[in-house]
Amino acid sequence: MPAQLIDGKAIAADVRQEVADEVAALKERTGIVPTLAVVLVGDNPASQTYVGAKGKACIDAGMGSITHRLPATATQEEVETLVRELNADSAVNGILVQLPLPKGLNERAVLDLISLNKDVDGFHPMNIGELVMKGRTPQFIPCTPAGCIELLKRSGIAIAGADAVVVGRSNIVGIPVAALLNNADATVTICHSRTKDLPGKVKQADIVVAAIGRPEFVKGDWLKPGCAVIDVGINAVPDATKKSGQRLVGDVAFDEACGAAGYITPVPGGVGPMTIAMLLKNTVRAFKLQHGLE
Ligand code: NDP
Repeated sequence: MPAQLIDGKAIAADVRQEVADEVAALKERTGIVPTLAVVLVGDNPASQTYVGAKGKACIDAGMGSITHRLPATATQEEVETLVRELNADSAVNGILVQLPLPKGLNERAVLDLISLNKDVDGFHPMNIGELVMKGRTPQFIPCTPAGCIELLKRSGIAIAGADAVVVGRSNIVGIPVAALLNNADATVTICHSRTKDLPGKVKQADIVVAAIGRPEFVKGDWLKPGCAVIDVGINAVPDATKKSGQRLVGDVAFDEACGAAGYITPVPGGVGPMTIAMLLKNTVRAFKLQHGLE
């Protein structure tokens, strides 16, 4: 039987509706709405698209959206000054600095500067530290990893007791998603570029999360029959049949995997839409924390 599709677009739409309902209730109660400030430095076309989508999602949910655009020539001091101003602005509940920053800017110094209670991307070392420590609760969970877990939960896939393999160990996806699976009582193996016998490791998994950044890298015959596959990868590959000359594929060979897995996320339309939905959720959480409503 072919794998059941995990429809990230539909699940993200549900989350966004829940956020919109909560925003309306908060507005009723406080007279104000949660507001996200996004900082975009430079003119990277992909970043511009992402920032536009985030702003629109905020507006659609009834939230406030502020976008600060700085030129690619902005200095470290200018970016840091803006982040400090946003930290101090009580009308701003969440701050997101769109990555990557132009070359020459110190990303880490900028991210470390964001107030912990406004770090809706969840990338502050304190947030990640609390995520991996037993018995601690981070203020915010990074959006893409949170989206992966939400997809599993809302698809009725059992995490507790499952064997999970995460391929990739980046700070923004692999490590936090492994921590979340561990916190939800899966037994987690983290794989990376130096892992021996990757296909053999993946074969053990009831849940596979692929966050590698290599097109169609995980093959169908690596998968345990019936497993759940969450494909985080977004890779553009040449495709002469498309007007743009390219199409997007994940880190998993989708067609092959459909023949083996029990559940699978498509690319696009899987994890991607969840990232923005979880960002909205985090911004509402920030608002509630800042207003003593949490
Ligand atoms: P990184 O490049 O930061 O990390 C990639 C990871 O994959 C590393 O840990 C690396 O191992 C591992 N890796 C690379 N090659 C191999 C290999 N041959 N075998 C096993 N492991 C390997 O990527 P990100 O985590 O930032 O992103 C991963 C993917 O997810 C990308 O396609 C990205 O576009 C996508 N993404 C999607 C998002 C969404 O909203 N859907 C959000 C963020 C990312 P090592 O540590 O040893 O180098």
